[in-house]
Amino acid sequence: MGKSPNDLGASYSRIDLNDQNRILRLLANPGGEEARQVLADADRLRSRTVGDKVHLRGLIEFSNYCRNNCLYCGLRRGNRKVARYRMTPEEIIAAAEHGASLGYRTVVLQSGEDPAYTAETIAAVIRDIKGLGLVVTLSIGEREPWEYELWRKAGAERYLMRHETADPALYQRLHPGQSLEQRVALLKILKQLDYQVGTGFMVGLPGQDSRTLYADLELALALNAEMVGIGPFIPHPDTPLGREAGGTVELTCLMVALTRLALPYALIPATTALGSIDPFGREAALQAGANVVMPNLTPRKYRPDYQIYPNKICLGEEAADCRGCISKRIESLGRRVADDPGHNLLWLQRRVGSPVAGS
Ligand code: SAH
Repeated sequence: MGKSPNDLGASYSRIDLNDQNRILRLLANPGGEEARQVLADADRLRSRTVGDKVHLRGLIEFSNYCRNNCLYCGLRRGNRKVARYRMTPEEIIAAAEHGASLGYRTVVLQSGEDPAYTAETIAAVIRDIKGLGLVVTLSIGEREPWEYELWRKAGAERYLMRHETADPALYQRLHPGQSLEQRVALLKILKQLDYQVGTGFMVGLPGQDSRTLYADLELALALNAEMVGIGPFIPHPDTPLGREAGGTVELTCLMVALTRLALPYALIPATTALGSIDPFGREAALQAGANVVMPNLTPRKYRPDYQIYPNKICLGEEAADCRGCISKRIESLGRRVADDPGHNLLWLQRRVGSPVAGS
């Protein structure tokens, strides 16, 4: 590791993140006493650095068409059982408007990799949503650098694109025709374009072990990611990995905690995947270093068709219900929903030179 992952987290953590053997032992026993202490350390550090408020992002899943064939994903192009849909720009903007009326400050535009949306179409949607006073996060996969630049200029401020796994060989097996090298190169370009960049990975992928997870942590740190999304792998029956075992809440939360210790100011979501394998999975992550939740804002009629994994929660809920449900869950932990835009504080500091809260 080039720089110490523990520089900022050191005084809060009983564990040295540079001690790879120790981390590997910890990952081998995610239900143990030491793991419990790491979760508590991460929870305390989160409170000191980014505070107790939880940022909500309204997720609009606007197209389930995908040109890729990722082995784990229910939306892979080889899955003929999916009823494919594309929302029109007007529908996307209406969903964002609805989000604004519910009090969201950020919308996340997510889709499969769908070339039917031209760069200019996406840029126009961004401009309209910015006009509503919302922050726009994109999560639409690999595109050309000039497109990323156009969208940044149109006003998009955050980009989510997980590295999925830091093991190049495993990455290649899981993503036919794609490479980890290419993905990391694009993440670096997004950083250069001054996006708040989100990477992340799945926990419990077939062929992954503790060393892979340590490498995932190292990569998130090397990228100095502003956001890190971590969720359990959930086997989808209509994919080649349908009969594999999935990831666990325990190990996923431990990775959330280690990520918090490595990147004290990161925005870290309590992912929907965690909430889908355990009714209190998101609460567990929020108590292990997470500070973001991404409730679903997709129009209800499209939700059942965006099943990247099976048994996804909230498929039948109205957006307003999701918002209310999430707020109650957050308050049940003694936390509050944030009402500011929820930017990464280090990114803000780089832009305006203002001091970082809590330092
Ligand atoms: N096409 C976009 C959005 C992908 S969906 C992109 O490539 O960035 C968002 C995330 O869902 C993916 O990054 C992946 O980590 C996760 N995901 C996909 N299938 C999954 C599964 N079966 N179990 C758990 N997470 C999954």
